Amino acid sequence: MNNSAQTTGTAFKTEIARLYLRHTWTTAMSSSSYRDTLYTYYTRDDITGYGEGAPIVRYHEDAEKAKRAAESMRDYLLGADAMQFSKTMQDVFRHVENNWAAKAAIDISLMDWVGKKLGVPLYAYFGLDPQDAPLTTFSIGIDTVEVTKQKAQEAHDFPILKVKVGLDTDEETVEAVRAVSSKALRVDANEGWKDKEEAVRKINWLEKRGVELIEQPLPAEMIEETRWVRERVHIPIIADEACQRATDIPKLRDAFDGVNIKLDKSGGILEAYRMICIAKSLGMKTMLGCMVSSSVSVTAAAHLSPLVDYADLDGNLLIANDPFRGVLIERGKLILPSGPGVGLIANNSLSQKRESS
Ligand code: MG
Repeated sequence: MNNSAQTTGTAFKTEIARLYLRHTWTTAMSSSSYRDTLYTYYTRDDITGYGEGAPIVRYHEDAEKAKRAAESMRDYLLGADAMQFSKTMQDVFRHVENNWAAKAAIDISLMDWVGKKLGVPLYAYFGLDPQDAPLTTFSIGIDTVEVTKQKAQEAHDFPILKVKVGLDTDEETVEAVRAVSSKALRVDANEGWKDKEEAVRKINWLEKRGVELIEQPLPAEMIEETRWVRERVHIPIIADEACQRATDIPKLRDAFDGVNIKLDKSGGILEAYRMICIAKSLGMKTMLGCMVSSSVSVTAAAHLSPLVDYADLDGNLLIANDPFRGVLIERGKLILPSGPGVGLIANNSLSQKRESS
């Protein structure tokens, strides 16, 4: 991390950082041991807002492209009135094509700055009670039966688990978790099942294992097939890959019971807030999720979590080198930081404090 916290005056900086995973992370889509993530630092009036966006390969993004996209807005951001953040972000959305992680990083750094400038935590800015923050799931990536059992046991502090499936080992994976845990269980297929009959068969089987909900059983474009599946199963179906932004939600209404909203997909806090409002107004369930990210992005999302039915905000727990500390988790409950803005503390300043005390 650079020393941007010390920047004075007005500045907008970007940086790519490599986040290392505690365990190799495997889903139906990919397998990796690290992620390159974009950080932004927005400074004005000697206040610095921190932002982060995880580029999503599924949407053809990468960290270099994200950095270039964020950099392209520097002059505009330095000239804009930061308190007119809704207008500013509308302009950013208009000028930056795709690159949702870059937009998210800009939005989070701007909103962190606004909260700090006003002296309020973001949950208070949105008029929310931090006590209403839900329990978060702890996610278990695809692995061998033995490692899956071990991960399920290690997650003893979490009352709800989320298990990734969508390869050939779905039954073994769920049975492995069930062998060591009777906790509430949510399942994410990450588009891994390829036809509607397979999806119905697998979901009906999962229902008998006490699974609470299923995320993205079929590929994102198979909306009509998902509607067919929904008529034949008894647990909520949540859209993730099929739901990137607010404009996606109305067409998903008949096929899905709810949507998984992530800042990296939506382009930040403001769009995620709009998505929550739209989904609720259509009678749909809402989930806040995250990518593999550090505490910047996860904490920013957590500030909106008092609004949603489900939280899956554990991305920062999956990495070994989190540069910040923000939201904490106590027995699964999200504990929002009460500092202004996103409420982050840089870990290097934490260790400096420990050394000097
Ligand atoms: Mg998902």
